[in-house]
Amino acid sequence: MSRALIIGAGGVAGVVIHKCCQNSEVFTDICIASRTKSKCDKFREELQDKTKTNITTAQVNADNVPELVALMKEYKPDICINVALPYQDLHIMDACLECKVDYLDTANYEPEDTAKFEYSWQWAYRERFEKAGITAILGSGFDPGVTGVFCAYAQKHYFDEINYIDILDCNGGDHGYPFATNFNPEINIREVSAKGSYIQDGKWVETEPMEIKRVYNFDQVGEKDMYLLHHEELESLALNIRGIKRIRFFMTFGQSYLTHLKCLEDVGMTSIEPIMYEGREIVPLQFLKAVLPDPASLGPRTKGKTNIGCIFKGKKDGQDKTYYVYNVCDHQECYKEVGSQAISYTTGVPAMIGAMMVLTGKWKRPGVYNVEEFDPDPFMEALTKWGLPWTENFDPVLVD
Ligand code: NDP
Repeated sequence: MSRALIIGAGGVAGVVIHKCCQNSEVFTDICIASRTKSKCDKFREELQDKTKTNITTAQVNADNVPELVALMKEYKPDICINVALPYQDLHIMDACLECKVDYLDTANYEPEDTAKFEYSWQWAYRERFEKAGITAILGSGFDPGVTGVFCAYAQKHYFDEINYIDILDCNGGDHGYPFATNFNPEINIREVSAKGSYIQDGKWVETEPMEIKRVYNFDQVGEKDMYLLHHEELESLALNIRGIKRIRFFMTFGQSYLTHLKCLEDVGMTSIEPIMYEGREIVPLQFLKAVLPDPASLGPRTKGKTNIGCIFKGKKDGQDKTYYVYNVCDHQECYKEVGSQAISYTTGVPAMIGAMMVLTGKWKRPGVYNVEEFDPDPFMEALTKWGLPWTENFDPVLVD
């Protein structure tokens, strides 16, 4: 018997809701709460006759801690799954502390007025969560999330030390639009237009946006251009994995996406600095979000596959060793199953699994943790069971 409060009703939330409803033995009750209650009600209407999970809905502004506290006191959840936006993370963590509710999210906190994301704000809650006897799991999506579990799995089973990690995120999907983002456009564009960075010998090395490009031939997708980006899991993995000399993160982008992005940047549409327009203050990037296709609407149109995984190089019993573990996910298969494309699917499934790990006691430990700090085995098993099977390659092509 467990009760989960799911905050947010967007693309990722839709997958979390479907997956919790498929897993009614663990998720006996869920409450879907978001800013726009009609979106929560729509999920309930779609699913309530197809699942044993009891579904309720609520309206909540997750930037308002007293509102969140009132909702938690009334609903009494065992865990709060935060799949709203990164801006809400700290408010939701504050409410969890006050109500002694376990917490899980898929993206680290980002202040709304600076495009900067790092774990320091959330790691600062460690002692308070320990004292309150509650668990917070940070970044239980795919990347961050499964990529961290892959690292913990490689460390546990195959390496004495891991010296190099390359995380490769390939989306071979095509939605047919000249330009659209696969998840929240504001968060996505902030991420890809920022400077790139990677960790080398314990230090961050910064690059210009999209400065470092490589080409990689992905299983079941084919050859793609990929670019080095800053990504949040680099920060925690550099601390939690033994022997790290370098960690990088690459994401694939097609030429059309990059050309559009460059043009939008050049004309100032990706800026987060407010401007005055007809007597009203607007943020160009938020306006752009309003005119772009809603990521949740890409599901029926997107064809092709994603391939996301990690390549490791390190040592075992004094010998050099390499290892690649990845998941391939088909956009159309995801749409058939839960009505979403693979980006939301690959994020929502691990969020459900992370919550299940806490609710079943496997990952229940007071404090604030990144996923790689727990035993990866039950999570890896659940990935295969719940729709994200993984493949291993012990002789992969490395990225130079
Ligand atoms: P969407 O924009 O589709 O959904 C966000 C939802 O949050 C919307 O329903 C929105 O409400 C709701 N929301 C926003 N602000 C508030 C608020 N103040 N109070 C209550 N509800 C609010 O985003 P996605 O589903 O694409 O992404 C969700 C999260 O997943 C993001 O944090 C994103 O960064 C993360 N993510 C993580 C990935 C990973 O691999 N780790 C990959 C992809 C995404 P409304 O409907 O009213 O707008």
